[in-house]
Amino acid sequence: MTIRDRILVVEDEKSISSFIRAILSTNGYEVLLASSGEMAISMISSHCPDLVILDLGLPDIDGETIIRSVRAWTQMPIIVVSARDQERDKVSALELGADDYMTKPFGGAELLARVRVAIRHMRSTGTGKSHDGRLNIGELTIDYENHQVLVGGRNAGLTHNEYRIVALLGKHAGKVLTHDYIMRELWGPAAGSSNQILRVNMANIRRKIEKNPASPRYILTEIGVGYRIIEAE
Ligand code: CA
Repeated sequence: MTIRDRILVVEDEKSISSFIRAILSTNGYEVLLASSGEMAISMISSHCPDLVILDLGLPDIDGETIIRSVRAWTQMPIIVVSARDQERDKVSALELGADDYMTKPFGGAELLARVRVAIRHMRSTGTGKSHDGRLNIGELTIDYENHQVLVGGRNAGLTHNEYRIVALLGKHAGKVLTHDYIMRELWGPAAGSSNQILRVNMANIRRKIEKNPASPRYILTEIGVGYRIIEAE
């Protein structure tokens, strides 16, 4: 008998939770459903799922409160689901420790991809191999030892700040990092809320590492949220 990964889906709209359940069960996951925040919090501690998919628009408790209460005792992965008009909620959910997000409407393929990445991240021993040594993503290599980024084996000539941005994204490959998170990690709590410096650096990074900077392959822009470096295949 194989032990299946258990996923808790927290969603009050029945059509959406049925859709998610159908996709996940067909693909070998065990699915639990909670239709309110109250129910979610109790099921998370009693069933200890491997992953939580959390709708931010619940009737009783807001998503942020749920994330806070979960993060107080566990790092289990949380993927938040938001409507188009909940952009701000989505960003604060990520800031509070959600691992990823999906915006409604989303398809089955996107759902499965997000779930697989989140579960893989949880399994890969936290800090991961990529912290020292090298991380290879296609033609791109982040050389953590020598503080260099190479493209096709050639030094891309990144500045110190540009390197630090790529190195940080690489440590969380596959995961979206918010503008505020990147700013805080690299420039400290006094960094301020202007993302201008980040945007300028990102434009330069893309010029140096992407074949076509207007349609980047390695570092993707998550509009209104932040950036994500793709994972190695
Ligand atoms: Ca809802």
